[in-house]
Amino acid sequence: MMVGQKHTYVCFHCRASARCEWLASNPLCQHYNRQMTQLHNGIRIPRRKDAKGWDRLWLSLIERQRKERVRWYYGSDSFKRWKVEKLRGRPI
Ligand SMILES: [Zn+2]
Repeated sequence: MMVGQKHTYVCFHCRASARCEWLASNPLCQHYNRQMTQLHNGIRIPRRKDAKGWDRLWLSLIERQRKERVRWYYGSDSFKRWKVEKLRGRPI
């Protein structure tokens, strides 16, 4: 990991985002005190009000995680269940 390189972190609960240098553990979101999620470089972060954009982003990450069989982690299992339930049957 290069020193000084910035990484992007987001919170899918309140759609906060942060850019900071790599830390030993992900930064915490100010609102919920949860660990924020690190994104790959080059991913465009939707505007905070763009709920559909955030849903799309989240789904694309889940899909990528499934395809690449990597252990990235986009929220707790209960959050995932809630999110999948929420998005089910809704056009995105
Ligand atoms: Zn948050």
